Amino acid sequence: METSEEILDKLKHLDTISSELEVPAEKRFEMVREAAAYADQFISGLKTAKCFSEREAASMAISDKRSTLPELLNLYQKEVIGTGIIAPSGKHFGYIPAGGIFSSAIADFIAAVTNPYAGVHYASPGAANIENAVVNWLKSAFSFPENAVGNLTSGGSVSNLVAFAAARDKYQIKNGIIPKSVVYLTEQVHHSAQKALRIIGLEDVIIRYIPIDEHFKMITSELEEQVKQDLKEGLHPFLVIGTAGTTDTGAVDPLDDIADIAEKYQLWYHVDAAYGGFFILTSKKDLFKGIERADSIIVDPHKSMFIPYGLAAVLIKDKMAVLHSNAYSGNYMQDAAGDEMIKSPANLSLELTRHFRGLRLWLPLQIHGVEPFRACLEEKLWLVKYFRIKMAALGFELGPEPDLSISYFRYPFKKDAEEKNKQLMVEIHRDGDVYFSSTVLHNQFVIRIAALSFRSKKETIDESVEMIQRCLKKL
Ligand SMILES: *Cc1c(COP(=O)(O)O)cnc(C)c1O
Repeated sequence: METSEEILDKLKHLDTISSELEVPAEKRFEMVREAAAYADQFISGLKTAKCFSEREAASMAISDKRSTLPELLNLYQKEVIGTGIIAPSGKHFGYIPAGGIFSSAIADFIAAVTNPYAGVHYASPGAANIENAVVNWLKSAFSFPENAVGNLTSGGSVSNLVAFAAARDKYQIKNGIIPKSVVYLTEQVHHSAQKALRIIGLEDVIIRYIPIDEHFKMITSELEEQVKQDLKEGLHPFLVIGTAGTTDTGAVDPLDDIADIAEKYQLWYHVDAAYGGFFILTSKKDLFKGIERADSIIVDPHKSMFIPYGLAAVLIKDKMAVLHSNAYSGNYMQDAAGDEMIKSPANLSLELTRHFRGLRLWLPLQIHGVEPFRACLEEKLWLVKYFRIKMAALGFELGPEPDLSISYFRYPFKKDAEEKNKQLMVEIHRDGDVYFSSTVLHNQFVIRIAALSFRSKKETIDESVEMIQRCLKKL
């Protein structure tokens, strides 16, 4: 047994070492200034920096040698920003481009410093209320009823998971019923949907791929035929997935027609609006008619609200189904139990302890209002129109007039068109000034433009077209 004197000595010694973790006030200011200077340099450099580099990054292994913040920021700039795609660049038109608005970064900083326990209302009523206020704002944006629930997740994939678990539990899809249960979707549904089904134990459900029309939208008469057929065969149709803005082409399924069928045959109706959802704020809002009839929807503010990666949402009408999947109370949680259930994000999610992510949308909406977001999305729609006109003038073949801000193109080479368009993609990536990605549609290789960065402007489109011309000349 140590004497209290020994204990005090030990504590004193440990304190001299561990106190380094409480950075002193002066040093804090210095670090914030260094970080702010770096952020400034990064943002000011985006216009001239190449969006993509094929260079491999250093291993970034953690070493025993201690480094200063400026040293580490230099390394970060070189190896993280200098390799791969600069996601928040306005010149990112590949996959689904990223956001990264500054007011949201500030929210993250404050959330991290104050670190409230946002998952449990009892632990931080204010933070939980902010999470719930964001969910309520989303509910009203998508005309979901007040008694619907929602949750802020780390991404669309997790949102899908939460929604499908609720659907599974409401319909009690378990044991022997699984292989007789049917899920309806199209080949354009994002792969995170099937991944989520597998993770929640529904790998063995029957998946029906409903045919799509020439605009990549679900043919709803085919959906109804398939449901009828399955019922006749004694199967158990339970979930239909529509997409409001597919990842490949931005197509919006006929949401209202799917809702009719889901209602008639009592299917759980899920709408994946991860990419496209917030275009409901724009002149395209009519395309979203029927989304308010869904049982669950997912949206990604880290896509079409320009928030940095790590904020998505799921909205669900059946509160009891979500609670069935997620609400637990261990003894260590007993002080937070009772009718606080619905006020605590943790009861509606697979996560317990997590980043206070609600602030990253709440703060920007309070600072900027919704208007700049709406205008920015509208701007993306017009940028794609402008791009298509310029590309048509260069002789490119274009996909059909898009629903939202994703379109595609290919060059009609007289010989070996398939191979040469692939080569054009290689040249575009080698150049790296502006980033595009490709896909295969109607069995043809095509290059996509996805305009979703708040930094993409008319000049960015001009620069893109110049680059494509430059690359075309190399073939
Ligand atoms: C991006 C995307 C997802 C997946 O969302 P993450 O946030 O990447 O997990 C799901 N569905 C669609 C339509 C998407 O575009």
